[in-house]
Amino acid sequence: MNEKKLDILSLTLPELSEKLTALGEKKFRAQQIYGWLHVKRVQSFDEMSDISKNLRQKLSECFIIPKINAVKELISSQDGTRKYLFALPDGECIETVFMEYRHAHSLCVSSQVGCRMGCTFCASGKNGLVRNMTPSEMLLQVYEVERLTGKSIGSLVMMGIGEPLDNFDNTIKFLTLLSDENGKNLSLRHVSLSTCGLVSEIRKLADLRLGLTLSVSLHNADNAKRQEIMPIAKVYSVDDLIAACKDYIDRTGRRVSFEYAVIDGINDSSEDANKLSGALRGINCHINLIPVNSVDGTGYSKNNKSVLRFKEALERDRLQVTIRRTLGSDINAACGQLRMNHTQSNPC
Ligand code: SF4
Repeated sequence: MNEKKLDILSLTLPELSEKLTALGEKKFRAQQIYGWLHVKRVQSFDEMSDISKNLRQKLSECFIIPKINAVKELISSQDGTRKYLFALPDGECIETVFMEYRHAHSLCVSSQVGCRMGCTFCASGKNGLVRNMTPSEMLLQVYEVERLTGKSIGSLVMMGIGEPLDNFDNTIKFLTLLSDENGKNLSLRHVSLSTCGLVSEIRKLADLRLGLTLSVSLHNADNAKRQEIMPIAKVYSVDDLIAACKDYIDRTGRRVSFEYAVIDGINDSSEDANKLSGALRGINCHINLIPVNSVDGTGYSKNNKSVLRFKEALERDRLQVTIRRTLGSDINAACGQLRMNHTQSNPC
C-alpha cells in the first residue's frame, strides 16, 4: 500500500467530510463519495460516475481504496459453511467464515493478523501477533463475502483470528462503519464481540454503550487452572474479570455470554462445573459450551459425553447453557487452522 495515500475506506463520514473540506470541496461531496464506497462498493475512483474528473483525479492522488482477495475458499458439503482465506493488501493472510442459519447469514471476522494472547487451545495464536488489522480490512471481509456469495450478512461475530479488544480503536472504528446508516447499516444488536478477558478494555467498551453482545472466553473459573490454558489470566484474575462483566451488564443493560471450551480431562470435571456455577450464579448471563476442536500439537480432544455431563451439572444450578453447534467441521472451520496450514506450506 502506498504510505502517502490515506485509506479512504477506514474513514467515517465525518472524517471524510473533514478531509474533503480541507481539499476545498463542498461538504455534500463526502456523502456522495461515501455512498459509492459503502453502498455501491466501487473498487476505483473512476467508477464514481457523478463525480467530476477533476475531483476523481484529486481523490486518487490523496487516497487509496484498499482491496482484499480470496486466495482460498472451502465449502462444507454438510451445511454450506464457507471458509475464506483472504490476502490483505500487504500479502498477509486472515480467515473469515460465512455461516448459514435459518434466521440470517452470519459472518465470523478476524481483527488481527495472528494473536499475542497465546491461548493454548487456539491455532490463531500459535505464531504470535503479526500486526493489527485496519478498520477497512475488517469491513472488507463483510463486503467481499457479500459480493462472492450474493447474500446479505445479517449478523456478525468477532471471533476470528485475533483479540478484537487488543486492537481497540480500529475495532470501534470498524463497528462505527459497519453500523453507519449511510453504509452497511448493520445494527450492533446483531454483533457479538468475543474477548479472552481484557478487563480494562471491557470497561472502556462499557463506557461506549454500543448495544453489542459481549462474549467472554472464560474456559475455567479457577484462577490457577485458567492460567494454564490462558496466559491473560496471569494479568487479570477471574474475580477481576467477573467484576468487569457485572459492570458491563449494569451499564449497558445487555446480558453477557460466557464461552467455555470443554477440553477432555482439562476443565470438564464436576469440580470445574461447581466452580463455574459459583462464579456466575446470580449474573445475567448465558453460558455457551464449545466442544473443543483438536488443534495439531495441543494434544487436546473433545468428549461429547463429558460436554453433556457438564451442561447438566450447570443446569442443575439453574444456569442458562447451550452447546455450540459445530458448523463446517469437514472444512476445518476452527479459527486459525486454515491460515496456519497455508502459512506453513506457502507463506503469504
Ligand atoms: S482464543 Fe482468541 S485471544 Fe486466545 S489466542 Fe486465539 S484468537 Fe487469541
